[in-house]
Parts: sequence; C-alpha cells; structure tokens
Amino acid sequence: MTDMWKYKGPIFDAHTHIGEPDTLDKMIQIEDKFGITAQIAIVHSKDGFLAAQDKYPERFVFAKYLSLADIAHYKVEPVVDDIVRTKDEGYSLAKTWFGPRWKDYIEDVPNGFRIDSPKLDPIFQALEDNDLPLLIHVADPDTYFELHYQDTSKYGTKEENLVQMENVMERHSSVVFHIPHFGAQPEIHRLPNLASWLDRFPNIVIDTASSRWMARELSKDTEKAREFLIKYADRILFGTDLSSGRGDHEYYGGRYNAQRILWETNLLDEPLPFEDADTKDSGGTFINGLDLPLRVLRKLYWENAIKIYGTPE
Ligand SMILES: [Zn+2]
Repeated sequence: MTDMWKYKGPIFDAHTHIGEPDTLDKMIQIEDKFGITAQIAIVHSKDGFLAAQDKYPERFVFAKYLSLADIAHYKVEPVVDDIVRTKDEGYSLAKTWFGPRWKDYIEDVPNGFRIDSPKLDPIFQALEDNDLPLLIHVADPDTYFELHYQDTSKYGTKEENLVQMENVMERHSSVVFHIPHFGAQPEIHRLPNLASWLDRFPNIVIDTASSRWMARELSKDTEKAREFLIKYADRILFGTDLSSGRGDHEYYGGRYNAQRILWETNLLDEPLPFEDADTKDSGGTFINGLDLPLRVLRKLYWENAIKIYGTPE
C-alpha cells in the first residue's frame, strides 16, 4: 500500500497521547514503520513524561494538561501558577479538553459554566504572557450530538459550544490556539464557519486528529473539502489522536492509512479500514480521496508543525 503514497517525507503527528513508561517503546516502533518521526505528546503520566524525555530526545513536543477541575470551578490562580511553570518543566504547550461530556467527569460544575466567562480571562492572559500555545478541544462530532448529547440543557447544542470558543478567540487574539479535530468542524456544512474562524483569527491552527471523523465527513464532498484544504494549507496540522499503550500495529495502521487515502489518493468509496462506531448501524464509513497536491501535503505532514513548535529538542 505504501507505494501509492504521494508524500514520501517524514511525518509530524501533531496530536498523540502518552501514558506510562512501559507503553512508549511499542508506540515508537510502530510509528517508525509508518514514517512518524516527531510528535506532540499530550502527557498523561509524569513517569511517562520523564521516560520519554530521557529515552527519546528530539522526538517529542510535550503538552501539559491544565487542571480541568480548577477551570471548571473558575479557580484560576493554581492554573495560572501552573502555566507560569509549564515551559521550565519541559513542556511546549498546554492542553485543555472541553468535549461536552467533560461535565460527566467533574463534580459540581457551576450551572451555566462557560469557557468564555470573563472569570477565566487570567488563564488566557497567562498563556499569552508566557507565549504558551493552547491545544483546546471544544465540542465534538455532529454524530455525538445526535447519539450522545441529546440533553442540551446539560451539554448545550454544538453551536452553543462553538460560539463559546469563538468568543474566547475574539477576546484573546494573541494566544496561539491549536484547535484539534478540524476545529470540531470537518462536517461539510460547517466548513464556512471554520473558514471564517481561520480568516478572522490568524493565531489559530487546526489539526486532523481522529482519522475516522475526518474521513467520514470530508469524504462527503471532495470538491469542497479539497478547496478548503488547499486554501488553508498553511493552517492545518496532521494529527491522529493515537495513544501509547492502546492498540497494536493494525490499530495504528488503520488510522494512518485512512488519512493517507483521504489526503493523497483519488480513490472512491474505500471502506474505512476499521469500524466507525458512529456509522456501523447506518451503512458504514467510506473514504473518497482528496488527491491533494504535494506542496499541500508537505505543509500538512511536516512544515506547519515545525513552524509553530520547532523541531523537538
Ligand atoms: Zn486527543
């Protein structure tokens, strides 16, 4: 299959997760086979972080989770203190996760909590002052809102989630926001709104994490999707959302291959190489390739990530 890839260079995976030390070797071994030579690692274990720094220098750009429990209760001081320390600790960016179901995991979230509340302004100000990009996950696929988030009084509608992010970007236009999952808007009907974000906020970039979400949605109108990728070629980073310790060669390979088929080929109706839980009862997910030009692929797989995060040290 690798003979058919248009792009032959190294790949920077701008969205991975790392856990305990004993899960790292296998991840790296598999990644090596698929041409991944650098990556953002969202850290889930202090020991894993130390082991990764020690064993794999020049491989990782590390992202530190900010305390969701503190943010959820508008406790900004410990979060600001954390941001001030983050770079010295060896991280290059911060991470927060506001997939709507975050409210299932944190106790006593104040009613009507909003990420655009002015109470959180000091956090965004600290990110700006410390020149620390924020990988910020908001909303989720349209399919999740249909299947899992019917309780809009708790989770909000997708639009309500997106508007809060938009307000944050408007008020903090100097912070570098790395918004994963295509800004949660790879659905074709959402591309115009995502385009308006990219036009209005020059400091934001998006990544392509979640191979099945990207493949499922962008395949639905290859002409519009291709046009978007080419127009915003400088702002999109390849990413997978793969986690160390989760899955094997086949698990990883399915995710890489799905995206490479999508970005690089002109194949039509290729079945997603693994199951898509969101469509398994409604016909499955099929990939239609966007056949992107090589100059766009170079930016997507490598150059854009290096421009923001530099070569890992
Ligand atoms: Zn992720």
